[in-house]
Amino acid sequence: MTIFCIGRNYIDHAKELNNPVPSKPVVFCKPATALLRENKAFYYPDFTKDLHYEVELVLKIGKSGKCIPITKADDYFSHIGLGIDFTARDIQEECKSKGLPWEIAKGFDNSAVLSEWIEKEKLDLTNIHFSLTKNKSIVQKGESKDMIFDPAKIISYLSNFFRLNQGDIIYTGTPAGVGPCVIGDIFEGYIDENRMFYCEIK
Ligand code: MG
Repeated sequence: MTIFCIGRNYIDHAKELNNPVPSKPVVFCKPATALLRENKAFYYPDFTKDLHYEVELVLKIGKSGKCIPITKADDYFSHIGLGIDFTARDIQEECKSKGLPWEIAKGFDNSAVLSEWIEKEKLDLTNIHFSLTKNKSIVQKGESKDMIFDPAKIISYLSNFFRLNQGDIIYTGTPAGVGPCVIGDIFEGYIDENRMFYCEIK
């Protein structure tokens, strides 16, 4: 199982980190050991002093494929979830400034919080509202229609480089409002009014 992630997929978020709006999807991966499910607590790692939350819609690949045309790409994912792409922002900034890969800032253990899955037919993919609260206050709000690259474009693009396998996971990028976490913070992710996950920082 591969965890693919898309960066800078919302204009407002690209701007808040002073990044250019991309003309192609920005892609990175996390190892399978990054996955954190079942509302388990996240332990603040000692290698960072600036851990950030990024709430993201997540796709589950439902059938395998390679070089998938955009017009067929919606058939290749089966479920939608919600997660957090935890990021060691200080390490990421250091990597970016040196032109180095981001994996140690993004792919560390338990950095990919993930909810239960919803069958995609149960949601209107063009109009999903999602949000993240920190200690009961809303810190991020997103709408699927604001993605720069929608799921079909993401799946088609990824599949040019990587065979997508059933069960692979794609984090689709975060809207504006990312920010720091401290020990004791409690995050809750919502799709519409439905709480999808809970995560305490310990
Ligand atoms: Mg992200």
